[in-house]
Amino acid sequence: VIPQKKVAEWKYSTCNYCSTGCAIEIGLGDDGKVVTSRGHAGADVNRGKLCIKGLLEHELFESPGRGTQPLMRDKFHHAFQPASWDQAMDKTADKIKEIQTKYGRDAFAVVSTGQLLTEEFYTLGKLVRGCIGTNNYDGNTTLCMASAVSGYKRSFGADGPPGCYGDFEHTECLMAFGSNLPEQHPIIYWRLKEAKEKRNFPLIVVDPRVTMLAQFADIHLPITPGTDCVLINSMLHVIFKEGLEDRAYLEAHTNNLSELEALVLDKRYDPIHAQHECGIDEDRIRTVARLYANAGAAMSIWTMGINQSTHGSDGVANINNLNLCTGNIGIPGGTSLSITGQCNAMGTREWSSCSGLPGYRVLENAEQRQEIADFWGIDPEFFPKKRGLTETDIFPAIETGEIKGLWLVATNPMTSMPNTPRIRKAMEKLEFLVVQDCYEDVETNQYSHVYLPASVWAEKEGCHTNTERRVNLVRNALPSYADSKPDFWIFNQMAKRFDNGHVIHFPDTPEGAFEEMKTLSVGSDRTLDISGMSYDKIEQARGIQWPYRASEEGRKGQQGLRGDPRLYTDGKFQTPNGKANLICVDFVNNNEQPCDEYPFWLNSGRVVEHFHTRTRTGKIGNCNKYSPTPYMEMNPDAAEELGIQHQQYVRLTSRRGDAVVMVQLTHRVARNAVFIPFHFHDCVNRLTLGLLDPYSRQPAFKQCSARIEKVDQQ
Ligand code: SF4
Repeated sequence: VIPQKKVAEWKYSTCNYCSTGCAIEIGLGDDGKVVTSRGHAGADVNRGKLCIKGLLEHELFESPGRGTQPLMRDKFHHAFQPASWDQAMDKTADKIKEIQTKYGRDAFAVVSTGQLLTEEFYTLGKLVRGCIGTNNYDGNTTLCMASAVSGYKRSFGADGPPGCYGDFEHTECLMAFGSNLPEQHPIIYWRLKEAKEKRNFPLIVVDPRVTMLAQFADIHLPITPGTDCVLINSMLHVIFKEGLEDRAYLEAHTNNLSELEALVLDKRYDPIHAQHECGIDEDRIRTVARLYANAGAAMSIWTMGINQSTHGSDGVANINNLNLCTGNIGIPGGTSLSITGQCNAMGTREWSSCSGLPGYRVLENAEQRQEIADFWGIDPEFFPKKRGLTETDIFPAIETGEIKGLWLVATNPMTSMPNTPRIRKAMEKLEFLVVQDCYEDVETNQYSHVYLPASVWAEKEGCHTNTERRVNLVRNALPSYADSKPDFWIFNQMAKRFDNGHVIHFPDTPEGAFEEMKTLSVGSDRTLDISGMSYDKIEQARGIQWPYRASEEGRKGQQGLRGDPRLYTDGKFQTPNGKANLICVDFVNNNEQPCDEYPFWLNSGRVVEHFHTRTRTGKIGNCNKYSPTPYMEMNPDAAEELGIQHQQYVRLTSRRGDAVVMVQLTHRVARNAVFIPFHFHDCVNRLTLGLLDPYSRQPAFKQCSARIEKVDQQ
């Protein structure tokens, strides 16, 4: 008999793992301690469901490794000494100023995450620009969704996924590119599965690996890694050749039609030829092109299989091409829906990054920069104007000595970045590193001079935006653990330590910051308008999608607390002439290819039990129990050729480094490919490639080559 835990009170919140944005309730016992969590039945997103991570989320609030007090040390190889908050914050502020005086303002950089609350991103952005005075400020979201941002901007003139989960209930054909929903976004998968079971629309999955979603698909296209643009161009070739395009929509609402048509009708993209480049049989290319174009409404989703590539931005733009050419933007069931990774990756996109300003303003636009400077009270002369470095450019800049100091907030590059042997060398070169995280045992903390213990999400208040632009609320359910502090408090305290001659107002509460953000979101050309929202309304509705304009509240009538589920329903885009851009993507294959020395494709991805380099899931009983050790999926035929057995240890080596892993034999991977989960420390990212997408600066984690050798089993 399992003893029932008695819940005295349920606290409102939102799950803090993936971008699905499930509404969660935290159960507190009589003593105010957390005993369990459950999904909220009235929430549109998850309708009472949670995946394993959400269900067990309460286990990590007081788990081993939680930071209890600030720590300081003189050099990274010296032991940490306990410090007061004042000592740790003073030392951090002094070191930032010292580095900037010696080397210039841009010698200090800040990298945050997709895990914080939106008000925290907004406040950190204000602190970095207005007080520290640099744009070298990025999120680890560059590792997961930068290509989606870039692709949306190139196609539609603005970022923001134009569709919603409700589109599953209307679509007549769904194509998933490099997205394994059952493991990455289990509750979105449940929504998709329910919709498919009711209406049985065709599901086409493009993935080199037989993922769990591929097993559920009607058609699986096991593409040659990194060649999605060839497949899409070839589908467009069939669509134009057979007159299946939505010419009326294209002529009314797009730019560059003749250029795109000429490109995709080139014989290179005839399925007869394209099949050799992308590895998909010509008849299959024709079948999926016809299925997609002939559906009344068709939608595409994608995740890291597209984004984490040197062609990530082009891949996203090309998916947008496919949907524009078939009239599938802004209609129920017809959309280009990027499935974002982290719970609040959207928050960084909307409110702060090295290349953008709050409310999707553009850093390079002098008028918009001035608008922010005036609103914040920053001297325009002080406001940093030069575009900042992305996370992926910050580490090379540390190597060259351009950057001397770094502040990492809830991110763990020693595990998450590609080519970690290179990251380790960069860390060792830093003159000053401050790590701010809920857990002091995060691997990157080995290299820090100051550690700031942050509160976990359930100890804080603020918002998340999920993959379908839905803003949801995290309520303060628990007091902060030991002497940890909310990130919002830490940023505000740090701001007090900088005086640059101008008075910048920092609201005392997250709700105060939210009110500032509402004001900044208003503008006739901005889809990101949250001016009609308030914490109370968000809580009442269990999340509201943007845009949700104050000026339109009356119009919403019975719709009450619902924002707009779709963007671009009127065919008007945020480009100078209001038309969407068709982007010509003539594929150039610059992927690192398998060769005689490194004959296997190396692919990496998430398993359902893991998240965010296991800083949290590695501490949760059942998540850790069911996926505790690094392993590598290998095809049994390839293993037989090399004399390798199931569960034997092997050394996998690339041009960057090596890792020892246990072999799991499976037909999920092709004979010339292997797959390793990417959240294990000192594992697959010792081997991965640091090559970047030219537009988004996102790394090509998923396409590199490696060789396998047996290791001594003694
Ligand atoms: Fe949390 Fe994502 Fe699981 Fe929902 S699907 S419970 S948001 S981890």
